[in-house]
Amino acid sequence: MTAIPQERRLVTAVPGPKSLELQARRTATVAGGVGSTMPVFAARAGGGVLEDVDGNRFIDFGSGIAVTTVGASAEAVVRRATAQLADFTHTCFMITPYEGYVAVCEQLAELTPGDHAKKSALFNSGAEAVENAVKIARSYTKRQAVVVFDHGYHGRTNLTMALTAKNMPYKNGFGPFAPEIYRVPVAYGYRWPTGPENCGPEASAQAIDQISKQIGAENVAAIIIEPVLGEGGFIEPAKGFLPALAKFAKDNGIVFVADEIQSGFCRTGQWFACEDEGIVPDLITTAKGIAGGLPLAAVTGRAEIMDAAHSGGLGGTYGGNPVACAAALGSIETMRELDLPAKARRIEEIMKARLATLREKYDIVGDVRGRGAMIAIELVKDRESKEPAAEATAALAKACQQAGLLVLTCGTYGNVLRFLPPLVIGEDLLNEGLDIIEQAFAGL
Ligand SMILES: *Cc1c(COP(=O)(O)O)cnc(C)c1O
Repeated sequence: MTAIPQERRLVTAVPGPKSLELQARRTATVAGGVGSTMPVFAARAGGGVLEDVDGNRFIDFGSGIAVTTVGASAEAVVRRATAQLADFTHTCFMITPYEGYVAVCEQLAELTPGDHAKKSALFNSGAEAVENAVKIARSYTKRQAVVVFDHGYHGRTNLTMALTAKNMPYKNGFGPFAPEIYRVPVAYGYRWPTGPENCGPEASAQAIDQISKQIGAENVAAIIIEPVLGEGGFIEPAKGFLPALAKFAKDNGIVFVADEIQSGFCRTGQWFACEDEGIVPDLITTAKGIAGGLPLAAVTGRAEIMDAAHSGGLGGTYGGNPVACAAALGSIETMRELDLPAKARRIEEIMKARLATLREKYDIVGDVRGRGAMIAIELVKDRESKEPAAEATAALAKACQQAGLLVLTCGTYGNVLRFLPPLVIGEDLLNEGLDIIEQAFAGL
């Protein structure tokens, strides 16, 4: 149970006076390159609500970018992390190991797809997990090339910037980027020239042809893909695409990596999104939803691949911090107890039904898509040209925020409204959030 009342409440202008005061202090000392979606400063959060320093309460359709899946102050997370804080904050797993790290790896082995022997290594951020997946795949295959996809997002460190597709804001002016990274088409059904029905087989054939002809399969260490693309626009690769690539990887000794940092841990209605088409990745990267808001990330995969890197080759001072591990165990406990995959499917049912009526009513709604509690609307100037409507998307997000609903945007063209509510959100709040979205469209 969370202390914060589960209700929307606006008591000042957004932003209010206290947020404005903090904003001035921020402008003086926080680097301008660090942006924020909302103009308000957080005071507390829990369940489906975030309260700002002026006492305004927002319905949360963002979960801090798919992180607070169990809420921002889940009881089991708070209890376990607090107990761990009192015992010890840090020893460094590479110096003196502790049980929590091992327990998280056991949970990952049990929960991730496939019944083969699995091992994990823990890190602090998603980008770090992806970097380590590349290190591990290169050690195992003794190859260098890494294949990624159009619209893919994998982080902001140097290697992961190279893996990420979109220039602004992630890469612009930050090069040079790491070599031996190759980008191929993804099965983006809504924008596939011959239509969504043909997209899966055509896109996979194109991607495989490019890999074979331009790189050479025998040079490829890893294929890395998000089973539902996040920052790139909540794109579910058309059916058949992921299985074709997974098979190609298997046939050619390539390590198939599912980046489930955004889509994993119950978000899409299953523990992991790749389960939807029965994919068993060789390696899987997780972060965001794993630890109820504390920084933790993991690479999990086939024991023989995970063991390929030499002893001492993987690690980091804080990787698998004991408090973050305790929080992860609390988060996973909550996901199991509340059956959060089922909760995500229920959220999809409610949201898709309401958003379908929006699609009927407004031509600007090009596509409604996503799975579980990872749902998006792609906005276009008209349905024929499908020209992206980025300005309208920004205006809609802003209108929602002003009305007390926190929503995010995404997409290569900046024209996707994305919804990532905490899975513990109440149905009343969820519907009230959808009311606000409807009103924002009506006011456009
Ligand atoms: C957020 C994200 C990352 C990067 O995670 P950080 O913790 O921000 O470094 C990588 N891959 C995907 C799919 C993500 O959504």
